[in-house]
Amino acid sequence: MKVLVINCGSSSLKYQVLEMDNESLLCKGLVERIGIEGSVLKHEKEGMDKFILQTPMQDHKDAIEHVLNTIIDPVQGVAKSMDEIGAVGHRVVHAGEKYSSSVLITESVMDALEECTDLAPLHNPPNILGIRACQELMPNTPMVGVFDTAYHQTMPPESYIYAIPYEYYTNYKVRRYGFHGTSHKYVANRAAEMMGQPIEELKIITCHLGNGASVSAIKRGVCVDTSMGFTPLEGLVMGTRSGDIDPAIVTYIRQKENLPQGEMNNILNKKSGVLGISGLSSDFRDIEKAAEEGDERAQLAQRVFAHKVRFYIGAYMAEMNGVDAIVFTAGVGENDIGMRDIICQDLSNLGIRLDLIKNKVRGKETVISTDDSRVKILLIPTNEELMIARDTLEIVNGEE
Ligand code: AMP
Repeated sequence: MKVLVINCGSSSLKYQVLEMDNESLLCKGLVERIGIEGSVLKHEKEGMDKFILQTPMQDHKDAIEHVLNTIIDPVQGVAKSMDEIGAVGHRVVHAGEKYSSSVLITESVMDALEECTDLAPLHNPPNILGIRACQELMPNTPMVGVFDTAYHQTMPPESYIYAIPYEYYTNYKVRRYGFHGTSHKYVANRAAEMMGQPIEELKIITCHLGNGASVSAIKRGVCVDTSMGFTPLEGLVMGTRSGDIDPAIVTYIRQKENLPQGEMNNILNKKSGVLGISGLSSDFRDIEKAAEEGDERAQLAQRVFAHKVRFYIGAYMAEMNGVDAIVFTAGVGENDIGMRDIICQDLSNLGIRLDLIKNKVRGKETVISTDDSRVKILLIPTNEELMIARDTLEIVNGEE
């Protein structure tokens, strides 16, 4: 069966078509500037030059219509007609406490996602728009929702309850949810496969280090803790997000700088992280280059970032009473050799030994710990789209 995977942002949309008989990628693409002047669709099919379509796209429905036409185009396409697309898997950011796994999308699921809009005001509305647009254009094709939060729903209450008045949890659902769940799940399962052991026998720490970053503790195949919280702002230092800070800083800076309502949120999400510390860039490649050239704040940004990752690795080792494998994934985790080196330095007493030669690799599935390291260190490129397509196939097949 061919599965279309859709990941809708507010003004962009990513898609892939996968042949699930052999889990191969047939084509992928990106639509940018939806609803803004200069809309563009960039489509890549195996063995062909990149296809670029510049045409006005007023809304998500318009964009998806162009995606579907490209998918069935005689030259650029990968299917003769839409009938060949057996199902659509949608990435959805927030399902609150409602879903702990992927689900077939029905009207009651849509109602539940609408209810979660308050919890993810920037992400859920475009996700919902994308689903609605696909439903209109492909009314007979089953659709599945795959949620970023779902994998973390197994966390015990001591991991997800904040120590604030309990009514905020019961009245407003203020608790830790966690994000990047599809990625953590994919790399944890892959780590177990690479180690040749059932995931139920392993303790794994997965480090998803990208522009957004989070760490998860996965004990016997179940997520027991993760570093992102009520929103993706909590936890690690990120490209532009602060991660954990003393909440008193919010009111203090707001007073000092006389900031308007909402500005602190913007500062913590968009102007902090390694960008905030370095004053240069949120891109770790720029930070690395500046650090090598002697820029002290870029060096500091690298150290603060690494410090926080090590902090969570240590915490999760304590929480799980040890660890068998640490996985690095996402843009920085997969590509930043120097950062992996700083993170893993001087952890040998904990049984964690990085092999400096094996670590000289980017974007490739491989073991990067020394042969005598008690804890395996693995580099596993994430593949959220494949995970979404797998869940979609499983659910659609289960419905038949
Ligand atoms: P992601 O959010 O997973 O797409 O990751 C994006 C981040 O990965 C950006 O901050 C990039 O700078 C970083 N990244 C990508 N390639 C490299 C590289 N070769 N070295 C360091 N960081 C990289």
